[in-house]
Amino acid sequence: MANWETVVVETDLLICGGGFSACGAATEASYWAKKKGLKVTMVDKAAEDRSGAVAMGLSAINQYVGIRDGENTLADYVRYVRQDLMGVSREDLVYNIARHVDSTVHLFEKWGLKIWKDEKGKYVHEGRWQLMINGESYKVIIAEAAKNAIAEAGGEIIERVFIVEPLLDGNRVVGAVGFSTRENKFYVFKAKAVIAGMGGAVHVFRPRSVGEGFGRSWYPPFNSGSSAYFTIKAGAEMTCQEVRFIPVRFKDAYGPVGAWFLLFKSRAISAEGGDYMTTHKEVLQNYAPYGLVKPIPANLRNYLGMIDVDAGLGPLYMETAEAIQNIAAQFKDDPKAFKKKMKELESEAWEDFLDMTISQAILWASQNVKPEEKHSEIAACEPYFIGSHSGASGAWVSGPEDLPTPYKWGYANMTTVQGLFAVGDGSGASSHKFSSGSHAEGRIAGKQAVKFIVEKGQAPKVDMAEVEKLKERILRPLDLWDKHKDETTDPEVNTNYMMPRQYLHRLQKLMDEYAGGVVSAFKTSKALLQRGLELMDFLKTDSEKMAARNHHELTRAWENIQRTWQAEAHVRTLLFREETRWPGYYFRADTPKMDDKNWLCFANCQWDRKTGEWKMMKKDIWTMPGA
Ligand SMILES: Cc1cc2nc3c(=O)[nH]c(=O)nc-3n(C[C@H](O)[C@H](O)[C@H](O)COP(=O)(O)OP(=O)(O)OC[C@H]3O[C@@H](n4cnc5c(N)ncnc54)[C@H](O)[C@@H]3O)c2cc1C
Repeated sequence: MANWETVVVETDLLICGGGFSACGAATEASYWAKKKGLKVTMVDKAAEDRSGAVAMGLSAINQYVGIRDGENTLADYVRYVRQDLMGVSREDLVYNIARHVDSTVHLFEKWGLKIWKDEKGKYVHEGRWQLMINGESYKVIIAEAAKNAIAEAGGEIIERVFIVEPLLDGNRVVGAVGFSTRENKFYVFKAKAVIAGMGGAVHVFRPRSVGEGFGRSWYPPFNSGSSAYFTIKAGAEMTCQEVRFIPVRFKDAYGPVGAWFLLFKSRAISAEGGDYMTTHKEVLQNYAPYGLVKPIPANLRNYLGMIDVDAGLGPLYMETAEAIQNIAAQFKDDPKAFKKKMKELESEAWEDFLDMTISQAILWASQNVKPEEKHSEIAACEPYFIGSHSGASGAWVSGPEDLPTPYKWGYANMTTVQGLFAVGDGSGASSHKFSSGSHAEGRIAGKQAVKFIVEKGQAPKVDMAEVEKLKERILRPLDLWDKHKDETTDPEVNTNYMMPRQYLHRLQKLMDEYAGGVVSAFKTSKALLQRGLELMDFLKTDSEKMAARNHHELTRAWENIQRTWQAEAHVRTLLFREETRWPGYYFRADTPKMDDKNWLCFANCQWDRKTGEWKMMKKDIWTMPGA
């Protein structure tokens, strides 16, 4: 076995991940931990200042309810999420996040985030729930607050350590193991409670950007399904694993469309079919009541565009020039004011990209795009797993204590495994939390995890013989490389192993062709999914044979294995749900209709740690009284 030092870290609360939800958890938990004399340790695979989905910055805070100004009620938000998710949402969780999110946003402002204000001092809204920000340094600001809170409470932050496996004592989590992505160090974390906040997953499906564009995607390439893997492997019940997210974005650089649709009131059209939201309006009748209420769910909006693409009426376009001209038109009688407004709109359009997707600004520049003069191509991206956004996949977590929800077995946001909490993209069926809601959810879980430790915490019993076996397995790709690399003239072609990139291509091909990726126009069926599972079995066997020549490739190898588990949970749940509830995210061609009678429910799954078998379950939907 590779000769790596084993570093043991003892803590009370272990926070895995350093993104928005983890930063929320760290900030809140540190406050309570300090009072109770407990230690909080936060571990990120990257550098926290620029890690996770917000690494590059964002141009809007997408969840703000506006309670203090009477803008909306909590019930409004619950209804909005129910509607967008076609009736399938954990309304207790959505409500709990919504009632905490405004105070989180106010904290962001206090910490230095610039939120746009109008002349009356009110926040500038992009849409009903969205606030415009100068967000290039959004992540740096939120990470700084988490770091300060941890430092003040005497906790520890460990960066560039990749968390791989949970450690368990029966049905109780007792820590985690991982490895340094820079040094020859294997980490063992012993903890009384653990929060999984390691984001969602990308590159499970073959991306549109391949070859020289490989690595470019809407979702950040750093998140590879670690939250899902960690909770599944711990034996936690999972939910909504079929609810992937497919955003429609500016094509090839994945630039955001929110500001165009919401702020600029732009239209999307197909090359010959006109405004597909109007021409295919009657299709929405098939998805009543959701299709008939505004805002139309994201998946249905995608679907109407896809109808035109399927009919060969692509490309789809965002009518940027028309939108800008429409806004500036109010100044048409004053040439000077008109020119000034046009300049202002033009700079807002570019800033939107420069704040969060710089590559889109570069692509526009390289293709001589002037948004005020010409429309720009948009397209449906490959599928992603992002339970905090418009997807819903994640762990099945306990609801808040004070609500009459049927889903309660302990502390809010605790999974079905004792002491293991899930947040952000890691917790399921509570979509539309976005950056602010993920942070708020992290705060909720952070406080609850400390409460769990105070009330039920036990010294973690970690079986070091088991840890030694995990170390051997986790470092095996390095050993395989060392043992066999000289046996062939090209070390990347070797019958004893495959390189992480080769494995990744195989996983992505499988998912693309059998589970409804871009190549199959997001369509799948029972027969395709069953065949996909057969092939996945072979893939999983071969995952034992991945080789790595350095730290970088060891990380890539384990990211791939984690992705594979996310993929399997997805395929199994697609197979289980015999209807098409979210066309525009995926179509079950053999069960093409929405079937409320049998499937207005959660589809949950659980992997049994003892037998290795998967169990599939339906769970009833609880509707919030008054919402
Ligand atoms: C392209 C895009 C645009 C978005 N736009 C907006 C927007 O405009 N407004 C808005 O409010 N929200 C937006 N969101 C949503 C927002 O970014 C997410 O909701 C939020 O970041 C989710 O928080 P999280 O903690 O679950 O994940 P992240 O913030 O992604 O954090 C995940 C963390 O886990 C770490 N990690 C991953 N794997 C491991 C591992 N194995 N070991 C240790 N650490 C690990 C990562 O390094 C990272 O620190 C957008 C998201 C995306 C992808």
